[in-house]
Amino acid sequence: MPLTNLIPYLSISVAFLAMPLATAAAGEPRPHVEIRGVYGWDPTGLLEPGSLDELGLNAVFMSSRQVTTERVALLKQQGAKVYAEFNTMHVASFLEDNPDAAPIGIDGEVSPPPHGWQGICPSHEGYRQFRMDEFREVLSNFEIDGIWLDYHHSHASWERAEPAMPDTCFCERCIDQFEQQTKTKLPGLATPELARLLLGEHKETWVQWRCDLFTDWIREFRAILDETRPRALLGTYHCPWSDTDYDGALRDKLAIDLKAQAEYIDVFSIMPYHARFGHADDPAWISRQTAWLGQHLGIKGTPNERHRIWPIVQLSDWGETVPVDQVREVLDHGSRRPATGVMVFNWGSLRGQTDKVEEMAVYYREIRE
Ligand SMILES: [Zn+2]
Repeated sequence: MPLTNLIPYLSISVAFLAMPLATAAAGEPRPHVEIRGVYGWDPTGLLEPGSLDELGLNAVFMSSRQVTTERVALLKQQGAKVYAEFNTMHVASFLEDNPDAAPIGIDGEVSPPPHGWQGICPSHEGYRQFRMDEFREVLSNFEIDGIWLDYHHSHASWERAEPAMPDTCFCERCIDQFEQQTKTKLPGLATPELARLLLGEHKETWVQWRCDLFTDWIREFRAILDETRPRALLGTYHCPWSDTDYDGALRDKLAIDLKAQAEYIDVFSIMPYHARFGHADDPAWISRQTAWLGQHLGIKGTPNERHRIWPIVQLSDWGETVPVDQVREVLDHGSRRPATGVMVFNWGSLRGQTDKVEEMAVYYREIRE
């Protein structure tokens, strides 16, 4: 199918942009915002020459499985940066041939996927090698400007207002490694009793060990990036909670230690999907969470900082509707310092909603220098 047939919204958008932009006067350039992006499973509708400029975009984020040499070239011809999203801990199909990689719960049994969200045991060597090999392949094969880790957390469903976060992984491999690496001597007990000890008197050591294990994956991803495409950025899509939200679940449950990860990560793409996460009427939640992150990591949003914050904000209707008259406010809160970039979730479902696409385009063009 010719590309022009895939992008019917473009003709509408062209007509719209040819009109006087009455609302444009309300916005001002935000020179601190270096990235005006969109995230999509695939970039259909963005490859046609001129389409990115028209939408005010200068960056496209897409699944690493959708990256092709031709797509990268077409996007770069439009002057865009191209970033790949990379699934770390959520390749559920791996379990079909490797059932020993399934996370184990406190009862010693395989932990059912919460809300159907399947995670993987973080100490499974075969799975880790599988992800590292694919990561290297993506970076070697494509001239991308960066790669963003996605789903880099424990077996838990948190992309919603009411998360489900079972305690895992109490497989023999994880418990053995914990004992060895933290020099903790555990008694010879069955898994439920051991789990009780690990979540009780050993909790602090256990939580830190799990965080360190997830961070060590990132150390290895960084080493691969430095070997294969050192000028590419390493980003991460991560849970938007503060360290005290949900009783400290960011570390205790999800095994995300942002300060430790900062040694290896360049860009933190916090995911404040305000509507999806129970803040449908409060887009200011986006900039509050971003401000917390900046404070936590010492990121101000000034030029030439090593670390950057580029939030991914929700414009598509997922769980909750994002009305067209909220688009501007969402992008405003998403592009306030310490953020120096912003991207929209997600192109696939948004591109059919031409009114919201046009609002996004108008806003992005306004803040463009
Ligand atoms: Zn395990």
